[in-house]
Amino acid sequence: MRTDKQAWTLFNHADVEILSVALISARRTGDQRRLSHSAWLARRKEDGRYLALLGEDQVVRRLPGRHGSVHLPAAADWLHPSTVSGIDSSRRLRRLLALIPALAATHQASKLQRHDEPRTLHHAGRDRFGRHLWLDQEVTRFWHGMRNAARLDGVALQAVSGYRSWNYQTDIIRRKLQRGLPLEAILKVNALPGFSEHHSGRAIDIAEPTTPPAETAFEATDAFAWLQRFGSDFGFRLSYPRDNALGITYEPWHWYWLGR
Ligand SMILES: [Zn+2]
Repeated sequence: MRTDKQAWTLFNHADVEILSVALISARRTGDQRRLSHSAWLARRKEDGRYLALLGEDQVVRRLPGRHGSVHLPAAADWLHPSTVSGIDSSRRLRRLLALIPALAATHQASKLQRHDEPRTLHHAGRDRFGRHLWLDQEVTRFWHGMRNAARLDGVALQAVSGYRSWNYQTDIIRRKLQRGLPLEAILKVNALPGFSEHHSGRAIDIAEPTTPPAETAFEATDAFAWLQRFGSDFGFRLSYPRDNALGITYEPWHWYWLGR
């Protein structure tokens, strides 16, 4: 297990994210062997596919047959967050939005603020489902502080969702469209790619152990009462109150870090 500080960082490139293999449990047998000989993994953001591995020797090993149309960053650029600044975000966003019917897309985009993806993200532990939770580094500190303070008051806070990429958001909406849901209905609960606060690594969907996650029932819990009283002390505010002007469904679980 890597223990250095860098191993808890996710290096965020346009279509590819780079993370330590210490955080990965391989799904296929062949992958497990390859991973054990490598330090870093390049994963396609769109669907999580493994594309290539980087050894401690800085040699890139592409995984066969999985490359698709994604351009991997050059080996030397994998672990340098500054290389991400070269991405033309507007062009990339237009390309993703083009995958979704345009009319309603324009409509929502005009109301919501755009959120760019950060260059790096910090590993903030595991979420309620045991998945990796990625957040902005400073937000991680405040999230952990808030969770510990709540625990001292006898309140258990759990993260359900933190950072999500533009690609992932596109995929969520496309899958719902494929299932036959109308876009209007989808956009009441999912922001368009580029416009979800989750892209920033500063938003967390919060739950507690006795109620199902991401449901209005959360508002009746001690956890929600605690967040309403103390959340702002840690820099968090509720983004989508009841009847909000953005037309987003009431989400008592969704908290955004504004800083203090
Ligand atoms: Zn949320």
